[in-house]
Amino acid sequence: MKILVMNAGSSSLKYQLVDMEKETVVAKGLCERVGASDSFHKHGVDTDERVISVYLPDHHAAVKAVLEVLVDSKIGSISSLNEIDAVGHRVVHGGEFFKESVRIDDDVIEKIDQCSVLAPLHNPPALAGIIACRDLMSDKPQVAVFDTAFHQSMPPKAYMYALPYEMYEKYKIRRYGFHGTSHRYIADRAADLLGRPLADLRLITCHLGNGCSITAIDHGYSVETSMGFTPLEGLMMGTRSGSIDPAIVTYLIGTQGMTAAEVENMMNRESGLLGISGLSNDLRDIRAATEAGHERATLAYDMYSNSVKKFIGQYVFAMAGVDAIVLTAGVGENCDRMRRMIFQGLEPLGIIVDQGLNCQRGYERFISTEESPVKVIVIPTNEELMIARDVADLI
Ligand code: ADP
Repeated sequence: MKILVMNAGSSSLKYQLVDMEKETVVAKGLCERVGASDSFHKHGVDTDERVISVYLPDHHAAVKAVLEVLVDSKIGSISSLNEIDAVGHRVVHGGEFFKESVRIDDDVIEKIDQCSVLAPLHNPPALAGIIACRDLMSDKPQVAVFDTAFHQSMPPKAYMYALPYEMYEKYKIRRYGFHGTSHRYIADRAADLLGRPLADLRLITCHLGNGCSITAIDHGYSVETSMGFTPLEGLMMGTRSGSIDPAIVTYLIGTQGMTAAEVENMMNRESGLLGISGLSNDLRDIRAATEAGHERATLAYDMYSNSVKKFIGQYVFAMAGVDAIVLTAGVGENCDRMRRMIFQGLEPLGIIVDQGLNCQRGYERFISTEESPVKVIVIPTNEELMIARDVADLI
């Protein structure tokens, strides 16, 4: 069985064709700058990558270009679209409608559209991708996999904000949480590596990339997560502030003459590692600068590790304990120094990292010592595979 996984962003379309027999990637690629005059399409597997310069006015054109390249006689990977059994779409926001992945029909499309007010940058391109696939491959089952769905298991005490209750009733203001597919994938893998059923475990999963979120997974269910109504809440990130005193927003608008749009832009694009260091949103640059003695880079690094440490602490208490802490994404998978700082000093709490294992790179492994009561595990995430598995299960 072959599943095509689509991930449409506001000006991009990422895809993977996954063969489910051995869960291998047959082809993958990316359409960039969709809608702009200099759009292009990268296609290939690992080292064999081609860049095709092609004008892609919209997501429909991008999906068409992807399907054409997949069956291209020279660089394609399949001889006909009949080899594709189904399509899985990553959709950021499923609101309170979707607690799991679903087969797409008119009603699902209508509900994804209704959730666009909650994710105006993400849901409309996902819908455009879904509609293009329906037009171009009308006989293939389509499945939607939502970033928010995994967190729908949170109890009201975790997802409600202490605002007047009508804010929830009228405007659906509540914590939704994001990165659900990644948290779910690494939790499943952690259970495999621990050799125990997920239903027996208390896990804290940390997705630390450009966007960052932490989730408490109690016996298989997300019970707390750091991102909220939007992906801005929670941890300090590459360019996002994470949680701040909300009164700062009204102060800047009410007394300093900033507009709501300016404050929002500042919190999403000019804050986090970039805002504090003044240098970069990329932790590799920050790390190099700290080694050269850059003070604000050092502050950014310290704030980031402290922010992760505090969320882990909250979630240990929320679940009255933890069996394993799992790290993934760009920073979680690759930055030994950040991992060392996050877990530094936690030995009395039963979290003991083996610095030899911590320094290794690029594969799934425990980085805690054998005696450590709480296990610490690094697992490269694979959201596309998780989406493909959901599609295979549903069809
Ligand atoms: P996204 O959230 O965009 O998917 P990624 O998961 O790819 O992001 O993470 C990207 C971030 O990972 C980069 O901005 C960088 O800060 C960090 N990163 C990647 N490799 C390293 C490394 N070797 N050391 C430190 N940070 C790294």
